[in-house]
Amino acid sequence: MEREVKFATKCVHAAEKPDPVFGAHTTPIFQTSTFIFENVRQGAARFAGEESGYIYARIPPNTPTHAVLAEKFAVLEGGEAGQTFASGMAAITAIALTALKQGDHLISTDVIYGCTYSLFSQVLPGLGIEVSFVDTSKTENVKRAFKPETKMVFLESPANPTLTVCDISAIARISKENGSLCVVDNTFATPYFQRPLELGADLSLSSCTKYIGGHADLLGGIVAGNKDFMDRMSVVIGYTGGIMGPHEAWLCIRGLKTLHIRMERHAENAMKVAEFLESRPEVEWVRYPGLPTYPQYELARRQMSGFSGMLCFGIKGGVEAGKRLMDNVKLCSLAVSLGATDTLIQHPASMTHACVPHAVRNSIGITDGLVRLSVGIEDPEDIIADLKQALEAI
Ligand SMILES: *Cc1c(COP(=O)(O)O)cnc(C)c1O
Repeated sequence: MEREVKFATKCVHAAEKPDPVFGAHTTPIFQTSTFIFENVRQGAARFAGEESGYIYARIPPNTPTHAVLAEKFAVLEGGEAGQTFASGMAAITAIALTALKQGDHLISTDVIYGCTYSLFSQVLPGLGIEVSFVDTSKTENVKRAFKPETKMVFLESPANPTLTVCDISAIARISKENGSLCVVDNTFATPYFQRPLELGADLSLSSCTKYIGGHADLLGGIVAGNKDFMDRMSVVIGYTGGIMGPHEAWLCIRGLKTLHIRMERHAENAMKVAEFLESRPEVEWVRYPGLPTYPQYELARRQMSGFSGMLCFGIKGGVEAGKRLMDNVKLCSLAVSLGATDTLIQHPASMTHACVPHAVRNSIGITDGLVRLSVGIEDPEDIIADLKQALEAI
């Protein structure tokens, strides 16, 4: 049997194929909307799905650049197939439209990315799809939420922005028993630290805008998983679009080649910053899955091999003190998004999660005083020095 290479080697080599025409070493950018058929028979066979090959860039497999990225990501997540999208939200929308129809029921983690919350709470109910938001950190809650109509369980772990985790393998098992799909938004952990498909989930997705691209210079989404589902989703994508641009696909291929190195440094820096914040008198609490004080430390260690660069914390003096801190940072940027090479700080209650009603936010732990930090790959001493001066100035 051929020896399976390690994750870092997969990041660099998986799916890379030398260009057969000119021998280009890196994957070319196929900046084209359409593909030429040799004859009418071939065009007809491609449209009929009787022959594989490219047709038109909206229709999967899109272009050879997209195909390399999709395959590389599928290899990293341990999935049978992959599919790229124009954004993380385009990916989540295509999954929902493929998995759910009128009369179906969706169970979703209550603490999720703000726009996912809005899609599930405002758009899907209008299509006759019922949605239950559940505290998935307790598996019993998920068990209780199932109905005969439940067709999809959507998890975000670690969740944005509270870093709450859920037991992916236990929930994937219950989903299977109930004939439901189990989908995990793996944006925070990336396949470097967590592989939901290996834990039993059917689909794992990431917003490429974050760690996959890794440099805050593109929008993209990507899904890996079961081939049957991907084939059904291809049909939906062909009709709805939401396709990644070829240049973005190329940037994501490039980003994935350093994923392992960046994630190591993000996590190492985040741990140092978390420990620093915990030591400060101005800070009321810190949540980072790598800290022994993290409430779900055991579960996080069981299903993740590391804890990424995301953390959140609360300042004594609440919202006003938090705002002063965010206005006082100099090296860190006050910006939403995450997974960039530089450190980003933001206020979920007024920014990324402002769309979640106040009472709901409070009940699920997205308090007004919560500050979210995406720790970058700068020298950790510089990040800490910046936070220190900003804390001293509040
Ligand atoms: C950013 C993000 C998304 C949405 O991705 P876009 O690329 O911005 O559409 C979905 N889930 C999580 C956890 C995110 O952080």
